[in-house]
Amino acid sequence: MTSMNKMKAVVLHSPQDAVVEIVEKPDAGDDDVIVRVGACGLCGTDLKIFSGEYLSPYPLIPGHELAGTIVSVGSHVDSTLIGQRVAVDPTLACGHCEFCQDAQFNHCESWGAIGDTVNGGFAEFTRVPIANVYRIKDDMPFNLAALVEPVSCAVWALERMRIRPGSIALIFGAGPMGLILMKLLENAGVMRATVVDTSVERLTVARNHGAHDVLQSDTVSHLQDLAPKGFDLVVDATGNPNVLSIALPWVRKAGQLLLFGVSPQGAMAMVEPYLIYHNEITILSSMAINHSYGRALNIVETRSNDFRSLITHELPLSDYVKAIGMVKEGKGIKLQLTMDTLG
Ligand SMILES: [Zn+2]
Ligand SMILES: [Zn+2]
Repeated sequence: MTSMNKMKAVVLHSPQDAVVEIVEKPDAGDDDVIVRVGACGLCGTDLKIFSGEYLSPYPLIPGHELAGTIVSVGSHVDSTLIGQRVAVDPTLACGHCEFCQDAQFNHCESWGAIGDTVNGGFAEFTRVPIANVYRIKDDMPFNLAALVEPVSCAVWALERMRIRPGSIALIFGAGPMGLILMKLLENAGVMRATVVDTSVERLTVARNHGAHDVLQSDTVSHLQDLAPKGFDLVVDATGNPNVLSIALPWVRKAGQLLLFGVSPQGAMAMVEPYLIYHNEITILSSMAINHSYGRALNIVETRSNDFRSLITHELPLSDYVKAIGMVKEGKGIKLQLTMDTLG
């Protein structure tokens, strides 16, 4: 660790301009804790923040998928929590706008997130409101606890869907979110998940994680053999706007289509409204986390073996830019930066 009031952090001074440098340690406000970060994951949102396509202010210390240990607390926080290992829900909602008052915290008019709109977890220490920390067991590794954040986004997505036991699902995208959604859908009673992706490597991983069938994107016509009447649940976990028009015809009559992947803002897609009308297709989406974090922690804790193997790369903080490049190229599944490897 560096000297008393200093710490090492990734600072994004402006889009594309990331420097690992020594900065001031954060101070806890009255209702905050300071967390010494153990592990912090990267995802597609980090790519957008790195390239300036997100609502982030700069300079920013990114990192929103984090877990660590409480090392100090604000004046309103129970000091016996010092030393407690925690996972962090990054959601920052005001609590008093029209949407917060309606329990739609992910639509808060002042919505923000630790690591997205305020300094986050790609640092030795970060400031977190006490309301955002969840205690984890002493034997839960930080890398597994850092995976709770993406799982909590998928848990919220499942809460929005109506899942009937015995149904079949089709998932576009075998990245971390596609695979997490697949596992949760199977836990929720889906009998058979088919996964489509462009990458043979990722499809192999999907198969190893329990996908019943895997298909490369250029062979989607074979879906006809797998589900002649279509799939009860179809999920886009790619964020590619073209997937909507490809996916829609594979939704079974009275089925549901979930848009989970984040398309570029302003991108358009062509769909056939008649198909949606005639087949009574429900189109759903889900955005981030809405008080789904605690239940996601339950899932990851209880089914740790299902989730641990999704973490394919753990890199030191100093490899942030390299890790961003790997996410962009679709290398591995879940990449995380770990702080205990700091010199
Ligand atoms: Zn994320
Ligand atoms: Zn609000």
